[in-house]
Amino acid sequence: MKPHTDRGATVRRHKFRLVCLCAVVMWLATGERLQAQDWAALRQGMLAEIRDDVIATRAYIGKGKLRPEVMAAMARVPRHAFVPENVRAAAYANRPLPIGHGQTISQPYIVALMTDLLEPDPKDVILEVGTGSGYQAAVLAELAGDIHTIEIIPELADQARRRFNRLGYARIRTRQGDGYFGWPEAGPFDGIIVTAAADHVPPPLVRQLRKGGRMVIPVGHRFGVQQLLLITKGPEGKLQTRQVLPVRFVPLTGEH
Ligand code: SAM
Repeated sequence: MKPHTDRGATVRRHKFRLVCLCAVVMWLATGERLQAQDWAALRQGMLAEIRDDVIATRAYIGKGKLRPEVMAAMARVPRHAFVPENVRAAAYANRPLPIGHGQTISQPYIVALMTDLLEPDPKDVILEVGTGSGYQAAVLAELAGDIHTIEIIPELADQARRRFNRLGYARIRTRQGDGYFGWPEAGPFDGIIVTAAADHVPPPLVRQLRKGGRMVIPVGHRFGVQQLLLITKGPEGKLQTRQVLPVRFVPLTGEH
């Protein structure tokens, strides 16, 4: 989805692209490693782009700002540590990037928005379906209690597990398998986030959502535009669904 932007936002976007381009040129020309402060500066540019996209899509999402704690989490997690070497210089561009096996790390704006919609609390137990690089799980780990994340591609699941260990994310548990069926022994969950698009909401995930819990999931045609849904389960178990935004995710695969 290409959001509409104002002139100020366009200028900021061009500046940020210029910084990214410089980073790429420096990377390619000198082979020099970017320092922590360079990454932090690029991360600030990414945050500015997220703010612009939130404003541009406020009519859909119903707010002009995400929660400060979500933006603070986005400012802390080193996205460059979650992408392959060959795209590392573009780690803070506000777009999805390839992570191998035909999969992507989601656009930062979408990661921030989905996190905001989930409203994670430090005591919450969260399930993520679609670990991918592990970036979304790491953002959630900054805000929630225990994170359980499932990835269907064994190589990506292994890679993410090693990455969480290396980066010290001790409260993220990773499982390889078909996330359509959830993780029943670890549930019920206060929040469920699905980062691949299904053509329907998986009933096992609905069952594993705690009363009062929230689920964020893209639903729709696998090669078309999907809708990002926010599903809330009331205290009596009644479901309410809000259609938030048109999105485009890779499909939820598996034999289900
Ligand atoms: N959350 C990820 C991140 O932060 O990098 C991005 C997820 S990527 C857009 C979607 C991921 O969902 C892919 O890694 C894909 O292999 C995985 N996936 C697709 N179908 C799945 C399924 N049935 N169960 C678990 N993971 C699945």
